[in-house]
Amino acid sequence: MKAALVTGGARGIGLATAKGLLAEGWQVAILDRDSEALEAAGKEVAGLTLINADVSRPEDVERAVAEITAAFGRLDGLVNNAGVADFGPIRETTFERWRRVMETNLDGPFLMTQAFTDLLAADGGGAVVNITSISGLRASTLRVAYGTSKAALAQLTLQQAAELGEIGIRVNAVAPGPVATKLAMAVHSPEIIAAYHDALPLNRYGKEEEIAAAINFLLSEKASFITGQVLAADGGFEATGIGLP
Ligand code: NAD
Repeated sequence: MKAALVTGGARGIGLATAKGLLAEGWQVAILDRDSEALEAAGKEVAGLTLINADVSRPEDVERAVAEITAAFGRLDGLVNNAGVADFGPIRETTFERWRRVMETNLDGPFLMTQAFTDLLAADGGGAVVNITSISGLRASTLRVAYGTSKAALAQLTLQQAAELGEIGIRVNAVAPGPVATKLAMAVHSPEIIAAYHDALPLNRYGKEEEIAAAINFLLSEKASFITGQVLAADGGFEATGIGLP
């Protein structure tokens, strides 16, 4: 049975992705640094393997490889979904805030994919999906750290696809538009929420399951000739050329 690992899987888009994969017959592990949320997810959803780890810490990532090897002995799908958001203008973004964003959003997917490459390449290859954002597609006055981290993750996706294709690993990204998760609601002001509703062609926030469906498609055999793409699941944001609120 195919095995997948979803980082930041204890809630939000990650947990919806894990549920979707379980329903499609995968064996699934979720990795999260929030042990309470991880435990709650384990109680809510039967059959998940739980890994309490921080994707920005190399020693945690190495332990995750050992735990996945012990649990499944293989890995076919890796979803680099763990992320943090911190909105603020340049002069208010301290180096600590900048580093906090980069460590999870950029260092994490680099470390995870590097550490799991051998396992993904074994047994016929595998697929990686990195979760970027529409915040990485345009500049805005609030997203110096978050937007830069996601634009860099899109480029990392292309680098990984270019290099790992020959050993059978496809690497793509999904760039979600706004979804009302804990992460988004901590940084979306009422003005931002209203502006997204007005400006998006679909006039609404996305649902966690709608982002999960795009991720799970890219992991699946249906996407077997697709690599190096950033798929926007964004209610039409990218198509219209509107600015970020
Ligand atoms: P969320 O806050 O609901 O879930 C994120 C999870 O990641 C949490 O469980 C958190 O504990 C975990 N996490 C954070 N840092 C971690 C680390 N260093 N190691 C391990 N786990 C860590 O957020 P979400 O909205 O579901 O976000 C999922 C992804 O989607 C993120 O990468 C986010 O940037 C991206 N995204 C979200 C939106 C949105 O509007 N919600 C839009 C675009 C992109």
